[in-house]
Amino acid sequence: MKFSPTLAVGCRAAAISNQLDPCQLNGHIANRLLPHSSTKLRLAFDLLTRWACMAEAARQHIVSLDVAPGAATSWLELMARCPRCSSMLQNLKSQPSCSDPACEYSKSGFPLVHGQPVLIDFATSIFDRDAYRRHNGSPLKRDVTLRSIGSRLHQFTFGMNRVAAFNCAKFLGLLKKVSGRPVVLVIGGGTIGFGTGELYNDASIELVGTDVYASQHTCLVADAHKLPFEEKVFDGIWIQAVLEHVLEPHTVVAEIHRVLKRGGLVYAETPFMQQVHERAYDFSRFTQSGHRWLFKDFSEISAGPVSGAGVALLWSIRYFCRALGAGNKLSLLICLPFFWIRFLDKLARGRTVADAASGLFFLGRRADQAIDPHSMPKYYDLQL
Ligand SMILES: [Zn+2]
Repeated sequence: MKFSPTLAVGCRAAAISNQLDPCQLNGHIANRLLPHSSTKLRLAFDLLTRWACMAEAARQHIVSLDVAPGAATSWLELMARCPRCSSMLQNLKSQPSCSDPACEYSKSGFPLVHGQPVLIDFATSIFDRDAYRRHNGSPLKRDVTLRSIGSRLHQFTFGMNRVAAFNCAKFLGLLKKVSGRPVVLVIGGGTIGFGTGELYNDASIELVGTDVYASQHTCLVADAHKLPFEEKVFDGIWIQAVLEHVLEPHTVVAEIHRVLKRGGLVYAETPFMQQVHERAYDFSRFTQSGHRWLFKDFSEISAGPVSGAGVALLWSIRYFCRALGAGNKLSLLICLPFFWIRFLDKLARGRTVADAASGLFFLGRRADQAIDPHSMPKYYDLQL
């Protein structure tokens, strides 16, 4: 199987079934070289070519389980798993269900929203099956394109995310050192995150976009507490502005660890000094030390503030106005003239920036052993 750089962003891996399976070629070769040979000879040739196909697929980091001539099985169909019992799934594109007859989801199946499978175990999730019978499944109104006036004013006031752009380039550079065509899972990828342009524009990266709702940037809907994938299948995972919105961040990070390949990379951005956003779906905040402990099963490559105390102050001004009854839109307008405060962040230095940061990032590599709890006080002292 080969990926095509022309595949749709966010669903590149899902669309590979449209490509010519190299194993199909083996069938043609057999027909030409062994047109009148015995069945046993053709069978031996078939087995040999199947083995060669699997070796080639493994070399490309994409394991093909179905190598029958003429087969066109997508990466998702091979790697997606039932979020309840981890069995393989069937009819992913038309009527997704679990392949294990003993599993509840073999009978009830999973819904489709905008043609994308909703691979959520509803019995243990905050999300209901009914929500995926309307719109894109999002419980909140969203500006997925980030082109609305409100989104533009927000970007003007609070600034662009240059830290994410820098870290994105670093993330991609590290991925390409270990794989020529890395497969990257984006959790919370329904809306393209700030500073991730390079990730989405790089044709050599295979993106698997997921979120709790469907968009043009996702290929399936999932709850990150139970990622519906086989173990150790991703080279990298990008999770930006998501961990504050999940009920159990430690469970989600354990899932990230499970589906990452050995030595795989994770990049996370999570708020610290930010008020409640996304209404009922906002649960946690992290200091830099708390964020590090959250990723205790990863070795740190780099970590630090995404935006400083100035941006945090802008958030406070806006939410102060909201608390006085200004409303969401008016509070943003009142905050607008204070946009210059964020430029003062450039003057801030040292550990005190992280102590008052609006948000933090962590770039790490999957490790086999957790860090020692005794190292945490020293970790704070060493923060730059
Ligand atoms: Zn199942």
